[in-house]
Order: sequence, then structure tokens, then C-alpha cells
Amino acid sequence: MRNQGLGSWPARRARSTPDSIATVHRGRTRTYGELCGRVHALANGLHGRGLGRGDRIAYLGPNHPALLETLFAAGVLGAVFVPLNTRLATDELAFVLDESGAGVLVHDRRHTDTARALRERFPRLKLVAVADDAALADGFEALIAAAPAEPRDEPVAAEDTALILYTSGTTGRPKGARISHGNAVWNALNVVVDVDLTSTEVTLLNAPLFHSATLGMTCLPTLLKGGTVVLAETFDVEATFDLIEQRRITLAFGVPTMFDALSRSPRWSEADLSSLRFLLCGGAPVPEELIRRYSERGLAFMQGYGMTEASPGVLLLSAADSTDRIGYAGKPAFFSDVRLERTDGTVPAVGEPGEVLVAGPNVVDGYWRRPAETADSFTEDGWFRSGDVATVDEDGFHRIVDRIKDMFVSGGENVYPAEVEAVLHEHSAVADAAVVGVPDPTWGEVGKAVVVVHPGGRADTTELGEFLAERLGKYKVPRSIGLVDELPRGATGKVDKAALRREHT
Ligand code: AMP
Repeated sequence: MRNQGLGSWPARRARSTPDSIATVHRGRTRTYGELCGRVHALANGLHGRGLGRGDRIAYLGPNHPALLETLFAAGVLGAVFVPLNTRLATDELAFVLDESGAGVLVHDRRHTDTARALRERFPRLKLVAVADDAALADGFEALIAAAPAEPRDEPVAAEDTALILYTSGTTGRPKGARISHGNAVWNALNVVVDVDLTSTEVTLLNAPLFHSATLGMTCLPTLLKGGTVVLAETFDVEATFDLIEQRRITLAFGVPTMFDALSRSPRWSEADLSSLRFLLCGGAPVPEELIRRYSERGLAFMQGYGMTEASPGVLLLSAADSTDRIGYAGKPAFFSDVRLERTDGTVPAVGEPGEVLVAGPNVVDGYWRRPAETADSFTEDGWFRSGDVATVDEDGFHRIVDRIKDMFVSGGENVYPAEVEAVLHEHSAVADAAVVGVPDPTWGEVGKAVVVVHPGGRADTTELGEFLAERLGKYKVPRSIGLVDELPRGATGKVDKAALRREHT
């Protein structure tokens, strides 16, 4: 095959294990042979609509086989897949579609109104609606049914861009990490090697696939190995227990908030969890209490630390180490390299903190159409600056101890206060504003906004909340807003966020 990228996987799998089940969704199963036929028909259909090498194909919708089929079809064509976060507000989606220059938006039917609103802004945008039947003349199934399933074999190289994954940042607008086919493949290999995946894996995917962690740490590696992915559209406690029992799930992936919710359910003590080999958890360290609750049910966590720019796996903590090294993030994944750097560029001593720098074949070479941000985020010799601070012990185990970048994690979603503050400043009554993450027993952290209103300005906290909710994804909207006369500032004039957190915790 001339295609060395993700797009060749369905055909390679159909060659080796055509009858194994690739995807399960709402009780419908599809084998690798079927997946391959659908992906090539879809690629042919999209090609017939004028799409080809380098074009961007966006997807808006929750977990569904169509998301994976579109990803692979884009890969067959040498086109670029751009999954959109369904939690973003329409303005935020418009920004991503505009910057990525997507020519097609494949969307789920629940997002029809949003998709139409987006096409009004970008008349070039072709819409393809996903429905489980061929009823829609211009829909996803009709496109597959009408196109020949003959395999395509376009040349695709490891360095070609496979995906653009948008991530917010401390510099305002989201940026698109340019993930090459090689990045995605090397990351999947890291997982296959370190997480010890097998071809009999049945992996539950109930965290969103538009996040690099769900896609990169579990979905793609399972498909590379020829295992089965079970797709759930949202995280729901009852449905999760049902799927684990009915589908005999072997590997479940999630963030601590999800695992916490399961363990607090009345079904927790009776549910049949015997098929689970282990759990994979990322985004934040798993709290000791959660490790204990799961270990009482004979289950252990494997933990991961990473970021979109590393496609995303960087550090892994094995299940055995998770119980001994509470709060640790682990050791570098097999093909990844990590070094720590002090602010003066020197290497910290063992146990001393330094910024986490990451390199390896899974690390992207930059952001989509953002040369300035790319230059700021990478060293000259290509190490990515994570903005996280870690220590490393004598045995090579890393612990994330702080962040240089202003960010907090709420229920597995990263929130960058700068983005929320910029929107608050758009409100005519707001003179000054700061957002911090404060501890929360359910979500890990939740946002708290502190606002100074212009003298004579009028704004109440409810109205400010609504103003934010119209412009930002729900998870970014602070849980509470306080009005103050003045923000605490340090000597350089910067808002003292540590003081704010202390005051509002
Ligand atoms: P994203 O690019 O959205 O995947 O977010 C990456 C960021 O999430 C990292 O730079 C960290 O700040 C944070 N993060 C990811 N995994 C962990 C973890 N295991 N422990 C602490 N922070 C984490």
C-alpha cells in the first residue's frame, strides 16, 4: 500500500482480521471488513464532491462510528480530519472552521441547526448529516450507498497532516495542533507497548472522541491491534454499567470525575466488573480514595499524563505503581522523551521542580497556520514546552507539581482563564476580571470569576453568567461570579491569582 497513514488501517485490518468486530454502537456491530468497505465508499463519495489531498473535513457530533469512518476516509484521501468539540458555542465553532478552512462539515442530526448556522457564515461549507438510515438524500449513509466501495490507494506519508486538534491556550483563541500520520501511529504504538493492549480488547469509549486523550490513548490503539471499540455517546452511569456487563468490557478509559461517579452509584457493589482488566485514567492524578475504592473491587488504574501536542501520551504510571506512588504521573512512554528545565535553562536536581519538555515521534511539529505560537511553544531543537512543572525522583518517576500556564481542569476539560477573561472584558460594564479554578469535590476544580464593574456601570452576576454562556462552551463558564472593588495585584501589576484562589476557596 502506498498509504502509510491512518487511512490505510481499515484495509490492513480487513486483510488480516476481516471478521473481527471493529465497532459497536447502540447494539449495532461492524466488522473490520465492513468498516473497510464503508470507509472506502465514503472516501470515494467525498472525492466525488471535490475533496482530496490536504482538504480539511470537520466533524461535529458525539461518539459514533461515523466519526471514525470520516477520520479514516479523510486518511484514505490524504485529507485532514478536524473533530470539533460539541461543547463549544457557535462562535467558537465558527472560529475553528474558519481557521482550519474546512470544506465539509459532517454533523450529527442533533447539530443540524448549528451546522446550518455555520454554513450561513461560510457558504463554501458542504454539510453531510449523519443519520442511521439513508433517508437523507445528501446524508452520510446516502453518500456511502451511492459511491463505489472500490479501494483507493492514495500515497500518504508519515509526515502528512492527519488531524488538526484544537486546544485552547493561554494566548486567547484556540490553536490547532497539527498531528501527522506518523505522530498518531507512534502514539498508538506507545500505548500498545506500554498499556499492553491485545487483539481481544473490548474498549469502552464514553469520553468524547474529539479529545486527544480518548482518541489517542484508547480508540486508535485498540483499532490498530484489531480489538473492538464500544462507542457511547455520552457518559451515563447506568449505561456504563450496562455496557460493561453486556459487552464484557476489558478496558475502560476516563477522567477521575467519571470513575468517581461510578463508584458512588447504588449499582457499584453489585455490578459485574469481572471482565475489566484495568482502567486507564488521565487528565489529573487519581486521588488515593478512588484508588482504594476500586482496589476493593479488584480493579487497578493505569494512569497517563499527556497533551494534545503529544498526540497525546507522554508519561504513564502502571497499575502496580499507581498504588505505591499516589499522586505521580509516571515514566515516559516507550518512544517519548521528557526532560525538565529550570527557568534559567538549566537542569534541576533530583526532586527539584522544572518545566516539562517533551520530544519524540508522537510530538507535533507545530500549530496549524500559527508560526508565532509554534515558535513560542517549541525549543529550537524541537522540544515542546508543556507549561507544566514536574519533579522527578531517583527512579525516574515524574510528578506534576505545578503549572506555569494559567489553566485548570474541570471534570476532565481544560479551562484557560485567559479565554474566559477576554470574553468578560467584551462586556461594556466590566472594568477588570480574573478567573481562577477552585477545588470542587465532584469536578476536581470549578471556575470562579471575580469582576470589577466600571464606576457607573451596571451588571449583575446572573446577567454576566448569561453573557458568558452565549459565547463560550458550558464547561468554561465559571460556576460562580463575584463582584469586587479591586483585584489583588502583585508588584508587576499582574493579577495575583494565588491570592484570589486562597480568598475564594
Ligand atoms: P490537553 O492538551 O487538553 O490534553 O491538556 C493537556 C494538559 O492537561 C497538560 O499540559 C496538563 O496540564 C494537564 N494534564 C494532563 N494529564 C495530566 C495528569 N495526569 N496530571 C496532571 N495534569 C494533567
